[in-house]
Amino acid sequence: MQLVPALLPSLIQAIDHVIEKNAEEVTALDQAIGDGDHVTNLQRGIKALTVQSDELAQLDWTTAWQKIGMTMMTAVGGASGSLYGTLFVAMSKAARDRPLDLQAFAEIFSCGVDAVKQRGKADAGEKTMLDVLIPVAASLRQAAADSVALPVVLENVAQTAIAGMESTRDMLATKGRASFLEERSRGHIDAGAKTSQLMICALAGVLTEHLTAPA
Ligand code: ADP
Ligand code: MG
Repeated sequence: MQLVPALLPSLIQAIDHVIEKNAEEVTALDQAIGDGDHVTNLQRGIKALTVQSDELAQLDWTTAWQKIGMTMMTAVGGASGSLYGTLFVAMSKAARDRPLDLQAFAEIFSCGVDAVKQRGKADAGEKTMLDVLIPVAASLRQAAADSVALPVVLENVAQTAIAGMESTRDMLATKGRASFLEERSRGHIDAGAKTSQLMICALAGVLTEHLTAPA
């Protein structure tokens, strides 16, 4: 399978649907330990990407990720806006117009996740979206090193994202608004980890369908 920007409209649409479908649940999570605006923030970004999606489909990955990053930065707002913006802008910088095979994508995504860590001054175990993004990046790198078949890679990525999201439930929040609650932040899944997981699983779903569709 060639991972081409022409897939972007269907990827963006799948993200839009999954966030819409889970909006109430995620809002409840963000109300429990944040300020409740995470889904609304994210949906502003997704709507802006939907408007741009035909244009994005015509670009190369370097330009598309740069544009997606700038849109997320300006449209999303909140902590997550600058973090998602940083993810895609850093992916754009790392892309350097190479053919996008699994090895290249694993490296590019890892560069994006490293940039998010730096931007948010955060690491794994702090009850944020990074508890999904970091293990997913590691899973992609491992899969590339082991030359795992793509359908298996996508299934592993989805399972890793779910496990990462679940792992935030018992963590103590040490970054973002949830950290203000200290010990009371335990017992709730982090909203940003949940939306990252939902989006990654939706992307994996579309790519799996694409892989198995008759040519
Ligand atoms: P805000 O907290 O400004 O209201 P959002 O509600 O849109 O922003 O996003 C909150 C999410 O952002 C959190 O659930 C968490 O996953 C993520 N987050 C917050 N701070 C950080 C950080 N320093 N590093 C990584 N992720 C963070
Ligand atoms: Mg919030």
